[in-house]
Amino acid sequence: MKIEPTTPAGGQVNVSGSTGEPRRLVEELADLRRKLAVRSQELEQSESRFRDIIERNADAILVVGQDGVIRFANSMAGRLFDTPRADLIGRSFGFPVVVGETTELDLPLDGAARVAEMRVVESQWEGRLAYIASLRDVTERKRAEESTRQLIQEQAARAAAEDTARRFKFLVECSGTLSSSLEDGAVLPKLASLCISELADWAVIYGVDETGSVRRLEAAHRDPARSSLARQLLSRPVVDDTAGLLRQVLSDRKPFLVQQSSDSLRRSLGEEAGSREFLEELGLNSVIVAPMIARDHALGAIMLVSARPDRPFGAHDLALAGDLAFHAALAIDNARLYQEAQRANQTKSDFLAVISHDLRTPLNAIIGYADLLDEGIPDRLSEGTRDRVRRIRTSAKHLHYLINELLAYAKLDAGHEDVHVGDVDVRDIAREVTAVMESLAAERGLSFVADLPAGTVRLLTDPDKLRRILINLVGNAVKYTEAGEVRLEVEEQPATGGVIIRVRDTGIGIAKEHLDRIFEPFWQVDPTQRAHGGGTGLGLSVVRGLVKLLGGVISVESEMGVGSTFTVALPNAVAHQSPP
Ligand code: ADP
Repeated sequence: MKIEPTTPAGGQVNVSGSTGEPRRLVEELADLRRKLAVRSQELEQSESRFRDIIERNADAILVVGQDGVIRFANSMAGRLFDTPRADLIGRSFGFPVVVGETTELDLPLDGAARVAEMRVVESQWEGRLAYIASLRDVTERKRAEESTRQLIQEQAARAAAEDTARRFKFLVECSGTLSSSLEDGAVLPKLASLCISELADWAVIYGVDETGSVRRLEAAHRDPARSSLARQLLSRPVVDDTAGLLRQVLSDRKPFLVQQSSDSLRRSLGEEAGSREFLEELGLNSVIVAPMIARDHALGAIMLVSARPDRPFGAHDLALAGDLAFHAALAIDNARLYQEAQRANQTKSDFLAVISHDLRTPLNAIIGYADLLDEGIPDRLSEGTRDRVRRIRTSAKHLHYLINELLAYAKLDAGHEDVHVGDVDVRDIAREVTAVMESLAAERGLSFVADLPAGTVRLLTDPDKLRRILINLVGNAVKYTEAGEVRLEVEEQPATGGVIIRVRDTGIGIAKEHLDRIFEPFWQVDPTQRAHGGGTGLGLSVVRGLVKLLGGVISVESEMGVGSTFTVALPNAVAHQSPP
């Protein structure tokens, strides 16, 4: 802006006057003109400084009229809106202008969208009310904030996932540990130690019987020094308040949480523990009681106690305790079912053993008297009668064989078979078996080969059981072979001192899919053979049981139509006498 000195009425100033007054006027005018020139220069400089400041400002600055039209824009505004700033002027601003507040604008640009923070002040522009809007590009800051937020969220999600995984792993371990113990008595201590390993400072397992009466079954404390203290609880009677709480939890079927132990809880648990001092010794802050229910039967409850005020139980612990109690209930129930099944099995085996034994006695009399009659004692019989007596004897002998098999199986199954170890030359047993079975093989037109080492084959084992094993295997080999040979091989194992015995045949063979099943009791490839006076399907099951009693293992290889080989590996001494 340039300011020109003006003249009154646009006319010329006369400076050539000779009077003092005009001269003074002229001088004043000249002085005024000088001042104006200086002022004008100052204004110019100030405006240029102002523009410079506006231009250099890192923020975009826009002057927006009351009508919303942009009157001025600095170069940063051009950059922010990605438009030449000359094009911005005269355009509608397009955002609400709020004075005195910081607002956030999403700038809808063609490229990547940007975010700006806007502050507005009221001002004047060309003599009219206008707004100066200063916009700061905060896109990068927002992005950084967003990625920090995402990072925090991801970290929280990861921590939650890790927590879930840890809890899941704990539950899997619980389920594995608990279900591996099929003895009722073994489940409870394991359960108590699981409770204190992950969840509680101390824990008590309560049982509820059919009459609803509650008793303590197990207790444990995380601090080994206080474990015996916790176990002292087992000898104390369960007070009514606790029994009532457990019954309530069992009827609600939901775990129950007391976050901060109340005075009444302290009082009733103090009573339960015997004294409040005793309870303080164990520690008490928050408590969870979780019901153990399986197959709709209330079995009891787990009481978990956190002693630390800095770690009260929360919703997570409540859920975990519920899951733990669920697995525990299943394990306890399974253990009980298993024990019931064991008892039933024992009863069955005892019954079989008794009945088979009692059947044998009259049968021996039948066979004995049939033998006497056949021999003509007391009177000689006619040929027809003798023939019938022989039939009685044959059937009675078959029955005798079946009862013997059943008795052998029942004795093994009931764990009543004793092992009598002796110093045995395995070749002697093999020769005895050969003597009995050779003639049977010959009757069926089969050759029988006993392949025995030249020197003694010493073994500390039960000779009677070894004989029964070999008679059974060779008997089967003869029974299931139409033509060819049956071999009995004995091979020393110098490395271990054990012995390998093989029974080979060239018989009908066993299909691959049946190989696993032939050792099961009563299982036969052709079950109709039982009805036609064949075996019982117990022979191999008895053999496997006897081999196990001698500490050995039995295996089989077979090919249909080619033959089978049963291999028995025995150790040099009977190590253990566990029932099969
Ligand atoms: P079984 O009294 O029926 O012989 P086992 O328990 O001794 O009962 O054998 C079970 C089944 O295994 C037999 O019914 C038979 O089908 C099959 N088996 C056993 N030994 C042989 C063998 N050497 N060759 C072919 N099949 C055999």
